[in-house]
Amino acid sequence: MGVMHIPGHEHQKPREVTLEEIRDVLGNCQLCPLGQTRTNLVFGVGNPHARVMFIGEGPGRNEDLQGEPFVGAAGQKLNGLLGLAGLRREDIYIANVIKCRPPSNRNPRPEEIEACSPFLREQIRSIWPDVIVCLGNFATQFVLRTEQGVTKLRGRFHQTGHFVVMPTFHPAATIYHQDWLPLLEADMRMLGQWLAEHPAEAGEVR
Ligand code: SF4
Repeated sequence: MGVMHIPGHEHQKPREVTLEEIRDVLGNCQLCPLGQTRTNLVFGVGNPHARVMFIGEGPGRNEDLQGEPFVGAAGQKLNGLLGLAGLRREDIYIANVIKCRPPSNRNPRPEEIEACSPFLREQIRSIWPDVIVCLGNFATQFVLRTEQGVTKLRGRFHQTGHFVVMPTFHPAATIYHQDWLPLLEADMRMLGQWLAEHPAEAGEVR
C-alpha cells in the first residue's frame, strides 16, 4: 500500500484505493498501544466520494463503544453545523487522526499519531475531496504540518497540494468554550459559500 504525501503536486485523482481495502489492511491493528485498550477501532464513515472530508481528533467514549466517529454530543453538534454549509451528514466523509480511543480521553501521543496517520493519508487519497475541514488542533497540525494552533489559522482557507483546507474548532470544544461557537458557525457558512462558488465539475461523481 503506497503512502501519500498530502502536499504533493498531484492535481489528478491518483490510483483508486478503496476504503474497504484500507480497512482490510487495518484489520485488528495493534501498531500502537491504543489497540490494547480500545473497544472498537473507529475507521470513518460517510460518502466515499465526498467533496468535503472532515477530520477530527480521535474517538471518544461513545465512538469507541459504537465504532463510529461523531456519535454522541459532538456528533449532534456537528450535524447541526453542517446545515450552515448546505451539507447533510450523508454528503460528507468523516474520520479521525487516530482510530482508537486514548484511555480517559487523554490527548493522543506523537508516536500514536505517527503509527496511525498513514491510514488517514490513505483515506484522504481514496476520497480525494476538494475540501478538508480540520476540526481542532490535532487535525489542523497534522494536515497543514504546522505547530500553529487553530485559533490562529481558522477563519480562512489554506491550500496544501490539491486540497483546500479549512481549519476550525472541534465541535466538542464549543461545549466548554461557548464563545467559540459563533466562530465555528461563521467558518461553516464560509465553507458553504466556497462550495456554492466552486460547483462540482461536470462528470464528477459526488
Ligand atoms: S490508534 Fe491507529 S495505529 Fe494505534 S492501534 Fe489503533 S488503528 Fe492501530
